[in-house]
Amino acid sequence: MSRIFNFSAGPAVLPVEVLEEAQKELLEYQATGMSILEMSHRSKPFEQINNEAQADIKELLGLGEDYCVLFMGGGASLQFSAVPMNFLEPGKIAAYAVTGSFSDKALKEAKKVGETAIVFSSKEAKYNRVPKPEEITLPANCAYLHITGNNTIEGTEFFEYPNTGEVPLIADLSSDILSRPIDANKFTLIYAGAQKNIGPAGVVVVIARKDFIKGRSKDLPEMLNYETMMDNESLYNTPPAYAIYIVGKVVKWIKAQGGLKAMEERNRAKAKLIYDVIDANPDFYKGYADVDSRSLMNVTFGLVNEDLEKKFAEEAEQAGLSGLKGHRSVGGMRASIYNAMPFEGCQALANFMLEFKEKNK
Ligand SMILES: *Cc1c(COP(=O)(O)O)cnc(C)c1O
Repeated sequence: MSRIFNFSAGPAVLPVEVLEEAQKELLEYQATGMSILEMSHRSKPFEQINNEAQADIKELLGLGEDYCVLFMGGGASLQFSAVPMNFLEPGKIAAYAVTGSFSDKALKEAKKVGETAIVFSSKEAKYNRVPKPEEITLPANCAYLHITGNNTIEGTEFFEYPNTGEVPLIADLSSDILSRPIDANKFTLIYAGAQKNIGPAGVVVVIARKDFIKGRSKDLPEMLNYETMMDNESLYNTPPAYAIYIVGKVVKWIKAQGGLKAMEERNRAKAKLIYDVIDANPDFYKGYADVDSRSLMNVTFGLVNEDLEKKFAEEAEQAGLSGLKGHRSVGGMRASIYNAMPFEGCQALANFMLEFKEKNK
């Protein structure tokens, strides 16, 4: 077996320890005589997996009894619709900070439901940055402010979240959830597709204030109604059970690493390795994002000589550095270095970048 360094944006690298545990348990989970893949979602062992995963996520984020954790299907993209369908009532305005292609998609879905306002957009500048808190002014009658915490495609990230006062703050944290400590109590609702930072594709983690999701329209499709999901412990229907099981393991892995503070230290050190090479070689590499907005999760950059980019991606692949080609809408390169990417992977990429420059300058 030779595992390479996988810089894919998602589905993305998972901790080897988690994969090994899952492998060990694949045929038989804890003397039950069957695999999790075959087990009822209403069984005792699965109930425990579901409960522990919820509790561990809340513990890592420092959240109390007033929050619930839900596991839903449909990807983060279905949340783009679920959020306005649940919370954008007639007469209210949903505010969106448009900082990347995913926030643009979220806005598009909200427009189908009700009135919206764009309170910030970096679209003209190709989404090269996120706003400072003071740049955002909310409209009157604001239903909520929606932000995208980390812009996976463009490589920008919020490090200071807007202050919304009484207005609910809702965030898509698909690509930076549990990558560093945040003041989670600031958020009314957080959602995250698991396949970037905390698990496989197929499950979305929703973290919400219980009082916020109570009492919403009974006309909502049950599968999009957060209250239905909450009242049924995410077991209204068959949940993506195996994906939840893996999320549970990843969350325990994060705890074993020392929690979110330890993740942040690691993630900062990893990102620095690559950004330092970009910054020290402006004649050869160029960063995509504004320095203040640079993501710790997705490092986006190009080569000053764009003709060399194809060669860079190909030779990196041959050197065991996979998935570095940037998103088609941005071009260039993107190194996704989520929680599970080891420090050595970033070191290998930084070294490769220096060697590639030497050979091609
Ligand atoms: C990947 C991603 C999405 C889309 O997730 P799906 O699970 O594919 O629907 C949405 N938002 C962000 C920030 C993402 O990184």
